[in-house]
Amino acid sequence: MNAEAIAPKAEGYLLLGVIGCPVAQSKSPLMHGAALKEMGLEGSYVPLHVEPERLGETIAAMRTLGFRGFNVTIPHKLAIMDYLDDVDERAREIGAVNTVLNEGGRLKGYNTDGIGYVRSLKAEAAPELAGKRAVVIGAGGAARGIVDALLRENPASVTIVNRDATKAASLADAMASRGRVAALGTDKLQEAASAADILINTTSVGMYPQESATPIPAEWIPGGIVVSDLIYNPLETRMLREAAQRGCTVHGGLGMFVYQGAYALEYWTGRPAPAGVMREALLRNFG
Ligand code: NAP
Repeated sequence: MNAEAIAPKAEGYLLLGVIGCPVAQSKSPLMHGAALKEMGLEGSYVPLHVEPERLGETIAAMRTLGFRGFNVTIPHKLAIMDYLDDVDERAREIGAVNTVLNEGGRLKGYNTDGIGYVRSLKAEAAPELAGKRAVVIGAGGAARGIVDALLRENPASVTIVNRDATKAASLADAMASRGRVAALGTDKLQEAASAADILINTTSVGMYPQESATPIPAEWIPGGIVVSDLIYNPLETRMLREAAQRGCTVHGGLGMFVYQGAYALEYWTGRPAPAGVMREALLRNFG
């Protein structure tokens, strides 16, 4: 019997979750729990710890149990694509899936990280990205979605600067047909930053528990530009604190987290997500 045939009819009850390894630290259950309550929907959003070698059987179980959808986090964002029936074109271009929608037993993968990030950046710090020079520090999974979403806003240029310069180059190559994208190693960070209108940290440098670290010396940050960090724990990283002291407009990662979740919830429910309530729930949790 295939999974579709035995999928239960959990009529009216919305089963949602996040798969990752580790996943215990995830704030998604808290955020989506608050959203479901606000929307008056009966359902649950559960954290599911999934080891990489159990990914295939987990996805089969999600179909069997009738999960309406789920988020995907480290380390499964790439590997998940092998187990889905369909992958949205944009997620395929980015090369990562963070959201899965189950439509009657057919699983389709999406990526809401990049669009969530740009929505937050425009709403909170930089309403106009067209014609701007963006410098992206890092070339990991998150950077892929960010660079993709930035390029859709017609910036003058996007420069990717990474410790491992070959990873920056391969990301730049993948996006080259879409706009002006350059790749550099960290030895060129000072030069790149000096020409930036928007400087974005997509690395984990500065994240809890290494809050005293920063991906860029303060004196390399030009005064008055927009400085953005994907990290939301802590809410204000050392990089953002130092940038604010230099007169920059600063933007933290909480908004991206809220909007990537809001877009996912909109796929699952077909209704507008209560982004304000989701943000409030997170801020209360951070104290
Ligand atoms: P990833 O795929 O593991 O990529 C990590 C990146 O950080 C790589 O570019 C890596 O450089 C760089 N890096 C790590 N340690 C470094 C160090 N000590 N010095 C210099 N560079 C270093 O991780 P990811 O999924 O892209 O996530 C990156 C960050 O984004 C994390 O802090 C994560 O929490 C945050 N994030 C936030 C949201 C949100 O909703 N706000 C969503 C997704 C991710 P190499 O290539 O040289 O190793």
